[in-house]
Amino acid sequence: MLSAPEPSDIFDVVILGCGGLGSAVAHELTSRGLRVVGFDHFARAHDRGSSHGTERIVRTAYTDEMYAWLGAESIEAWRSLDGVAGGGLLRLGGGIDFGIAAELEEIERSCRAAGMPVETLDALEARKRFPGFRFTTPVLWQPVCGTVNADAALRLFQDRALAAGADLHFSEPVRGVSNDGDLVTVHTAVRTIRARRAVFTMGAWADRLLGSLLQRVDGGPEFASGIPALTVTDEQVFFFRPVIDTSWPTFIRRDVPEYYGLPTPDGRLKAGGHYTGRPIDPDIRSEPDFDARVAVSEWMRENVPGVDPEPLSVTTCLYASYPDEDFLIDGVGNVVVGVGLGGHGFKFLPVLARRVADLVEGVAWVDNPFTLHRTARSVGPSGHK
Ligand SMILES: Cc1cc2nc3c(=O)[nH]c(=O)nc-3n(C[C@H](O)[C@H](O)[C@H](O)COP(=O)(O)OP(=O)(O)OC[C@H]3O[C@@H](n4cnc5c(N)ncnc54)[C@H](O)[C@@H]3O)c2cc1C
Repeated sequence: MLSAPEPSDIFDVVILGCGGLGSAVAHELTSRGLRVVGFDHFARAHDRGSSHGTERIVRTAYTDEMYAWLGAESIEAWRSLDGVAGGGLLRLGGGIDFGIAAELEEIERSCRAAGMPVETLDALEARKRFPGFRFTTPVLWQPVCGTVNADAALRLFQDRALAAGADLHFSEPVRGVSNDGDLVTVHTAVRTIRARRAVFTMGAWADRLLGSLLQRVDGGPEFASGIPALTVTDEQVFFFRPVIDTSWPTFIRRDVPEYYGLPTPDGRLKAGGHYTGRPIDPDIRSEPDFDARVAVSEWMRENVPGVDPEPLSVTTCLYASYPDEDFLIDGVGNVVVGVGLGGHGFKFLPVLARRVADLVEGVAWVDNPFTLHRTARSVGPSGHK
């Protein structure tokens, strides 16, 4: 039988899953002076989840104004983290959206409402400015948009959390959890720890341990049973070699299916389809899909003649999404859940981490758009955010 733990053995918070959001939360909580322990299944900088690789698009170009505001706040947060990192984290080289006109109108309205500059270019002007593309319809240019280096961001969050005293354990999967509402007990193959509160950020594996974590918490079972099923898809992104000398914006073609792309620091263009991957079990990964390669290559040949349409390489990455593509950031008892970041959550990590940390400290997120019982938010005519 376990003896009662000494108060000094009890952590303030345990973070279950130290990928993108878990690492950002570890950084935020330690900067607030909390005693944090965290676990991740895989090694630091692993490529088995949703947060690896060099670049992610940061933008305010959403049809839903709420996301434009959140994006604007996030860009400010990344700017300040970039300062802390001494540069190399954030590159604001601008971005473009093109495709369904009604969607571009909504995006323009959201960006303006959030105080972010946008400019509509006709196809001719857009082709002059961005000679790597073939446009036939107007283009929405956003100068304050760009990329954040995902690997560097996770390294920064983790390094700073560790330096501030966080006890982060990698390559140490959580095997079991229990929670009596006052104390959370976490078991791994090598240790058992206790904490007063838990942050649950297991990404694509979120269906696995949440039930046990909430089982004995007031309102926990109802909360757990109300969560919609998470869909995990294996998304592929391809790297292309530019054949003209030009600067590349990030881009999103608003259409069905939607294709997007972004420049990488080593001069390539990374591109892929949005929500075009196969549903999978995150523990059983398959070989890259040849059909996806053919589809993206054809799309690039048609729309981006400034690159060689034969991809140089491919990488895979998981989307873990709820049907409405919105996140779940909510608290019940002594647990805060942060999952369902899908294909668009990275850009918001520093801000979501602040909100999660507030919930951990008992500070409500007024008008939280990501509660379990949220009202459905609008999506653009393409069906995407
Ligand atoms: C191809 C692709 C392109 C994307 N592009 C963009 C973009 O341009 N802009 C944007 O904003 N977003 C983008 N995203 C989305 C964004 O990257 C993800 O939403 C975000 O990184 C998810 O972070 P997470 O913390 O939820 O998941 P993860 O980073 O996967 O973290 C979950 C962690 O939980 C750990 N874990 C699981 N089970 C256990 C266990 N039993 N014990 C311990 N640890 C466990 C895992 O090992 C993992 O590290 C993209 C995603 C993909 C896949």
